[in-house]
Amino acid sequence: MALDSKILHAARRRHEERVRAFAAEREARLKAVYAAVPEAEDIDRTLRALVMEAVNVSLQKGEDPVAAVEQIGAKSLALQERRGQYLEKAGFPRDYTDRDYYCEDCRDSGYAGTSPCRCLMELYTEEQNAALSSLFKLGNESFDTFNLSWYDDTPASGGTSPRQIMRNVYETCTAYAKRFSEMTESLLFIGPTGVGKTFLSACIARDVAKQGHSVVYETAGAVFAAFEADKFQKTDDPDATRAHVRRVLNCDLLIIDDLGTEMTTAFTISALYEIINTRLITGKKTIISTNFSKEELQHRYSAPIVSRLLGEFIVLTFAGRDIRIRRQEMGL
Ligand SMILES: [Zn+2]
Repeated sequence: MALDSKILHAARRRHEERVRAFAAEREARLKAVYAAVPEAEDIDRTLRALVMEAVNVSLQKGEDPVAAVEQIGAKSLALQERRGQYLEKAGFPRDYTDRDYYCEDCRDSGYAGTSPCRCLMELYTEEQNAALSSLFKLGNESFDTFNLSWYDDTPASGGTSPRQIMRNVYETCTAYAKRFSEMTESLLFIGPTGVGKTFLSACIARDVAKQGHSVVYETAGAVFAAFEADKFQKTDDPDATRAHVRRVLNCDLLIIDDLGTEMTTAFTISALYEIINTRLITGKKTIISTNFSKEELQHRYSAPIVSRLLGEFIVLTFAGRDIRIRRQEMGL
């Protein structure tokens, strides 16, 4: 699983803030307890002295200090018990100052070995959701709020109604998001404006991000602008631009929205090929949505691109009229 370094950075910053806030809170609690219960401060001093003494003696004898500390267990337990009683008598919860760390699992390092601890991953997921929400301008898009009644139930000439078509599309998308880790395929969403391509992309993005995968969502125009800025050094911040390009190439799920709205040049075609091909080779998944039909794609892009899009992606053809208009008509 590739974590997005920019999002991880933001998550770590928040993690540090939380650890700092916890330490300050702990400090304040101790101060309050010591002010109200001087016996607690004496006991803490005695406990520390006991530990120090045990360690010193064992080091002088060349013994294991951990075993020595364990040996004072009974004595220290008795002192802690008394301390608890003092606290309760003064109206504090018994364990008011017992927590030493914000997260006991990683002792606030944020890492368990080399992988991020769950306390850091929680923040990572929140940061990723926030980043995606602002990109998608998300409202309440989720598989639960998707509504098939936005689509016409009258069969078209082929005998299949838009609603039936979209039921299949919806089921494919939910299964894809749910089983993202096992999936090897990428998706191509084809269909006119306003029939739910961005909506369902957002639903998948949200579910996949929740599973802890890195997700990048961009419009085609923004992706190509970043590649161009990187290639021709048209940027004030080359490192950030390079990092942006790397994220597009390496994230677990890349969503390119509105392919075909960009100005197509030899450069955008070669960048698109690089993105699609690199990600296919490295087994990274991509969702591309476009208003173009298959024929228009063939006309617009080079054969190597089209053969990959139509041959190696699962093509989902969306149907219906603009759902915003239909929702207005239906008062939804
Ligand atoms: Zn932790």
